[in-house]
This record gives sequence, C-alpha cells and structure tokens, in this order.
Amino acid sequence: MPKIEEHHLCPSRPGTPKAPGYPETDTWRVLPNGDRTCSFCGSLHPDDWLRLMGEAKDPESRTLIDKSNKGYKFYVHQAGVQNALEGGIKFYNWHIPSADWAAQANAMHQEVMVASRKKLEARMARPDGKGAP
Ligand SMILES: [Zn+2]
Repeated sequence: MPKIEEHHLCPSRPGTPKAPGYPETDTWRVLPNGDRTCSFCGSLHPDDWLRLMGEAKDPESRTLIDKSNKGYKFYVHQAGVQNALEGGIKFYNWHIPSADWAAQANAMHQEVMVASRKKLEARMARPDGKGAP
C-alpha cells in the first residue's frame, strides 16, 4: 500500500460524479519509485512532472513524454515503471499549480517533445520495439 502524505482537493472533482463514500479530500500517494500521484485522478504531482520533463529533455535518459489524444493529458514513460502501481504514468493539466509553473513547463515543452519523439522512433526501429533510446 503506498504511503499517504499531504491533503489537497483535486481540481477535476467538480466535473466528476462523486462515488458514494468517497473521501472528502484527496492525497498525494507516494508510489514505490518515489513519484507522487493524485488519489482522485491519478495525475503526477506537478513538481514530479517538472522533474520528469527535465529528464525527458536529456537524450541519454530513458524518460520520454508522449501526448495523448486529449489536450489536457500527457503520458510519461520512465525506466522501471511498467504500470501506475509502480510509478507515475500521466499528468493532467488541471494540476498546473501556477502561472510560474506553467512558464517553466512551457519553456521546456518543445525540447521535451523533440527529444521524446527521437527516443520513441529509436524504440520503434528495434525489432522488439522495446529498445532503450
Ligand atoms: Zn487529481
């Protein structure tokens, strides 16, 4: 069971029907690899997302970020994380905490997407499709 820390209210709550008995507040679950995810929507914590964006820019890192077909959702692929029980796998933009945070993310965005595309293409080029970038 992941460790629980720090309460918040997920910004996606107002648009989501609440299941009976659902907790009144949300938490940042700490997963086995140390990533924090929202107990309501599963999004990575914004600080962890910025760290992963920084890793994704690095051509030597295996971390890569991928757009989903939803404008508000991004996926991250990182070494040692096969599923959402092991580490963070996605970020929802309703967890953007501030204009300053958004400016930092926007400043890295282009470089992150270019580096991530190259890593994805390198993986696809391998016969097993699983190659390290
Ligand atoms: Zn959330």
